[in-house]
Amino acid sequence: MTASIIDGKAFAAALRGQVAGHVAALTAAHGIVPGLAVVLVGDDPASHVYVRSKGKMTVEVGMRSFEHRLPVDTDEATLLALIHQLNNDAQVHGILVQLPLPDHLNADLVINAIDPAKDVDGFHISNVGLLATGQKAMVPCTPLGCLLMLRAHHGSLAGMEAVVIGRSNIVGKPMAQLLLGDSCTVTLAHSRTRNLAEVVRRADIVVAAVGRAQMVPGDWIKPGATVIDVGINRVDAGEGKTRLVGDVDFDSASGVAGAITPVPGGVGPMTIACLLANTVTACCRANALPEPEGLTV
Ligand code: NAD
Repeated sequence: MTASIIDGKAFAAALRGQVAGHVAALTAAHGIVPGLAVVLVGDDPASHVYVRSKGKMTVEVGMRSFEHRLPVDTDEATLLALIHQLNNDAQVHGILVQLPLPDHLNADLVINAIDPAKDVDGFHISNVGLLATGQKAMVPCTPLGCLLMLRAHHGSLAGMEAVVIGRSNIVGKPMAQLLLGDSCTVTLAHSRTRNLAEVVRRADIVVAAVGRAQMVPGDWIKPGATVIDVGINRVDAGEGKTRLVGDVDFDSASGVAGAITPVPGGVGPMTIACLLANTVTACCRANALPEPEGLTV
């Protein structure tokens, strides 16, 4: 293996430490405790695990956590009424609606009902537009985590060739916007891209966000490139067990890349840390206080 490992767990622990420091300072100087509300509709077991772990980490950094678990048959009016209540609650600085929502609920309508200033997932149409036009936005957590790790690893990204694979609204598109904002030359590849291997071979930075286990082999990677693997895929590990792998074939890619994030332990831990960071940023903005350095872009 030649690649250095970008240790997302360590980055995330450091970011949570920074967040905790800012929360303590906000509380000591102004008596303000940032608060994060998480809304979960339904009984998807994985979503319940995510929400529990978000709540635990929120409390660990000194913030208030508000969890709202609603039954799977919750109707739109009830959910919108809860969001309206949270929009008007001064103790709540960040609101996250856990996705996916049950099919009978319109996710776009629900997300766009969140006060954009409290939209710590950065999915509200106003934040999407602000990010796309290079204005101060709430930035989606997963791409934000990727960018913070890339900046920490490289310093300036200006002029680098970046290829993002996957064009989802929650990862691929905002990732491309962020890399463009940092003056990369960006290609946004997707399921209809021709000659994907050739496109990826141009890249100094590869961000894979597809959801297909190990689809990017090492011989697609330019020697020395930095590889950020967003994918989380559960595969059969034999003997009735499973394990998590990314969208990149780690074994072959790590023999070619200059640096690579592992799965697990790469992008995943940074996502929750960035959610906490966004909540502090939202809290400072809501109180017209200076924003702490290094928590957002
Ligand atoms: P998505 O299904 O919404 O989007 C997948 C994208 O991949 C689509 O834009 C599609 O065009 C593209 N794609 C599909 N097949 C392709 C192919 N053969 N070649 C090239 N592109 C192809 O997925 P998402 O929500 O963006 O998530 C992507 C992956 O990232 C998933 O594995 C998900 O679990 C993971 N994820 C991880 C985190 C984290 O915190 N680490 C957060 C969000 C998503």
